[in-house]
Amino acid sequence: MNIAIIGAGVAGLTCATEFVARGAKVTIYEKGPSIGEQACSWWAGGMLAPWCEGETAESSVVKLGQHAKSWWKTHTAQVQENGTLVFALDRDLSELRTFAKRTTDYQSVGAQEIAQLEPDLGERFSQGLFFPEEAHIDPRKSILSLFDQLVSAGVIFKFNCEVEPGTLSGFECVVDCTGLAAQDAIPELRGVKGEMLLLRSRDVTLQRSIRLLHPRIPLYVVPRGNGLFMVGATMIENTERTRVSARSVFEMLGSAFALHPAFSEAEIVEIGVDARPAYLNNLPKVNWRGKVLTVNGMYRHGFLLAPVMARVAANAIFEGYQIPELMDEYCY
Ligand SMILES: Cc1cc2nc3c(=O)[nH]c(=O)nc-3n(C[C@H](O)[C@H](O)[C@H](O)COP(=O)(O)OP(=O)(O)OC[C@H]3O[C@@H](n4cnc5c(N)ncnc54)[C@H](O)[C@@H]3O)c2cc1C
Repeated sequence: MNIAIIGAGVAGLTCATEFVARGAKVTIYEKGPSIGEQACSWWAGGMLAPWCEGETAESSVVKLGQHAKSWWKTHTAQVQENGTLVFALDRDLSELRTFAKRTTDYQSVGAQEIAQLEPDLGERFSQGLFFPEEAHIDPRKSILSLFDQLVSAGVIFKFNCEVEPGTLSGFECVVDCTGLAAQDAIPELRGVKGEMLLLRSRDVTLQRSIRLLHPRIPLYVVPRGNGLFMVGATMIENTERTRVSARSVFEMLGSAFALHPAFSEAEIVEIGVDARPAYLNNLPKVNWRGKVLTVNGMYRHGFLLAPVMARVAANAIFEGYQIPELMDEYCY
């Protein structure tokens, strides 16, 4: 089967990977000049944390997100399987109790266990939650590694090609993975702005994603190796994709210092921003819009849920499966 995919973010690249595995010939059209340059996927933290996400997300995100770790392990060497640690400062300990009530599959840990897991944080926190089955990836290296594999498998990439789904001919199927850019065609799609920092510190060592709870500014830090840390991310109901506010940077840095004072001497390597594509219920969706299959609405779960969405899309195209209305009924 000859398939066109529009958009080379995490949704487009995971779909291409599934389609190639089923014997399809795939061409990807990307309006940016290279992988990542215009994709929301470039700015992600890369947390594969379905149980932590259960604090606010639907149970279907927790259930289907559990497949992400093994999918990424099959397709990249980037998966760090060290779990997630969740803390709150003493004055915010009620946040930790609420988080514990809303989530599952964690162990409550005290100072000694924290010191064993993360020696740099041992003296700073006396209680926390440890989610041992969670993982994280470097999203940039991961999508670049999918790109390399797809090129080797014969997938054609057409960069600097901004196309509309209805204008492509000569393909048996067109799959729209354009993220927030599809907003004109899909009015129910909205943007949720996310700002992030990349810090470099030789004075902090972390093995796993850390979440610091706060009533207004919850923060996470994801170690990327070589002293690099992704610090994120704001969640602002806004479609703005390029402007980072002073307040957001100030608040993220403040929370990073609260996690570990050595972050005050860290180098700011990068300040990034994009808007996550989201439907009103914050759940992604695979659906036919005429003859075009749309895979969109990844919200804050692009790396967590794209593997499942890609498989749902492949089942619809290759097996003719009906796509259920509810994400809870998606089959992996
Ligand atoms: C700060 C931040 C932190 C995040 N952290 C996480 C996390 O830890 N874990 C997680 O799972 N998710 C996270 N996310 C969410 C995740 O990044 C998104 O859900 C995901 O990137 C959306 O992927 P996508 O492929 O749908 O869209 P995109 O990545 O935006 O890709 C769409 C692509 O389509 C291209 N395109 C658009 N229009 C056209 C056109 N007409 N023709 C050709 N090409 C076109 C664009 O150039 C782009 O490359 C985070 C997001 C942000 C902003």
